[in-house]
Amino acid sequence: MNGNSVKVAGVDISTDHWIGGKRVASKQKFANFSPIDGSHLGDLSAGGKAEADAAVAAARKAFPAWAALGPKGRLPILKKFAEGIKARVNDLAAVETMDNGSLLMGNVHRVVPRAAQNIEFFADWALTLDGHSIDSPEVVNHVRYDPAGVAVLITPWNAPLMLTTWKVGPALAAGNTVVVKPPEWAPLTCSLMADIAHAAGVPAGVLNVVQGIGEEAGDALVNHPDVDRISFTGSTDTAKIIGQAAARSITPMSAELGGKSPFIVCADADLDAAAQTVAGQYMNAGQVCLAGTRIMVEKKIEEEFLEKVRGAASHMIVGDPRDKDTRVGPLIHKEHFARVAGFVERARADGAVPLWGGNRANFGELYFEPTLFANITPELEIAQREVFGPVLTWQNFSSDDEVIELANNTRYGLAGTLFSRNEKRAMDIASRVTAGTLWVNCFFVRDLAAPFGGAKDSGIGREGGTWSFDFYTDIKNISVRK
Ligand code: NAD
Repeated sequence: MNGNSVKVAGVDISTDHWIGGKRVASKQKFANFSPIDGSHLGDLSAGGKAEADAAVAAARKAFPAWAALGPKGRLPILKKFAEGIKARVNDLAAVETMDNGSLLMGNVHRVVPRAAQNIEFFADWALTLDGHSIDSPEVVNHVRYDPAGVAVLITPWNAPLMLTTWKVGPALAAGNTVVVKPPEWAPLTCSLMADIAHAAGVPAGVLNVVQGIGEEAGDALVNHPDVDRISFTGSTDTAKIIGQAAARSITPMSAELGGKSPFIVCADADLDAAAQTVAGQYMNAGQVCLAGTRIMVEKKIEEEFLEKVRGAASHMIVGDPRDKDTRVGPLIHKEHFARVAGFVERARADGAVPLWGGNRANFGELYFEPTLFANITPELEIAQREVFGPVLTWQNFSSDDEVIELANNTRYGLAGTLFSRNEKRAMDIASRVTAGTLWVNCFFVRDLAAPFGGAKDSGIGREGGTWSFDFYTDIKNISVRK
């Protein structure tokens, strides 16, 4: 391997940037540690203004030729890219687990295959983009989806490869070139992704990776004057900062942000399925944006359901995420652990009562017990703010109006889950909860053609299917007199 590299989980990974088809090192470095055991995985190049300038220039230079290929010309290259990801599922999964502590089995069977799907799905979809027209009495309106130009893609650490390819897929398929800024707490799989794209024939400059700290590399990219799109997934607080940069240059920005999603269980639900799904919210130590963390249970089944959840949660084994029996791995970083522990401490001080958990788990420095808080009033911090850890709250309700009010009583609106056997009731509640996605009798089932995103403080815009292309293209109408 050219340049600087590390070996993690037996895999060689470049620690340099990938700019204009070359590995480029910076003098300044940042250290990367595994949350599993605190081991030092390596030091990576930390980019700043110079690297952002070089990467955007490389992307700009590569743009005309990539755009000119058209969806058909890009298809075989992107398919090969997806195949390359599939061929390295085990490597990518193992590296992701070392880097961010997510469950190895989940990465092998779901997360990394989904990354490949992200690339191939949008490559296929792009074929359907152009060519439709709207006939009117005087003219024919030919609608075109032209690539926007250079897109900056910024992602968080909880699923870096999956979330990055969710942006890279449609951006490249639509004919844009991209600069990826991976998360500094889990930067490794995005570096591998660049090698896989290169081997698949993605031309130099079409996909660039600038490693580094958000406030430095990320800041330089979002403030760069020659960027046409900013796509961000991360926290609401960071989105507010990036949004100011986007506003200054009127650069369209999409934002997939945090959540505090309700999980509603009606008395007529399949309580066993609902209880298993509640316990599943502890997976990956609750570091899942979509997690239904506010459990709301109809009063008449509250006690029965609590016992079922207690039983299901007892199987949520805390441990090494490489072990197939583990369900709850580590929190990502000591700073994040302190944040989660701070929420729990303040919840106790506010009068919330842990029905279980509430402490560091007896496994390692960054492991936290699956926790359920009762005695919740809606205005408590623990019921309002995103914890991003294995911490759930428990509330009850007596009427549908009451639970809808509770569900909508946060600044977030990312997702919601609802269990009921009464279809009409479920549809009524689901349609009145403000959120981008509502799951009824299921959780985390995703079709890439469906819209995905958040309402209120959970985001701006939608990704998925045609919505991704609305964002990554300049839609043009050529109106021709008949
Ligand atoms: P974060 O906002 O701290 O960081 C996200 C990314 O932004 C990182 O790559 C970081 O380096 C970069 N960044 C930070 N400051 C920046 C700046 N000033 N300019 C440019 N880039 C900057 O978020 P996080 O802690 O990494 O991730 C957790 C958050 O992400 C949670 O709120 C979670 O809910 C959310 N999330 C949302 C989704 C979704 O699809 N809605 C998916 C996963 C995670």
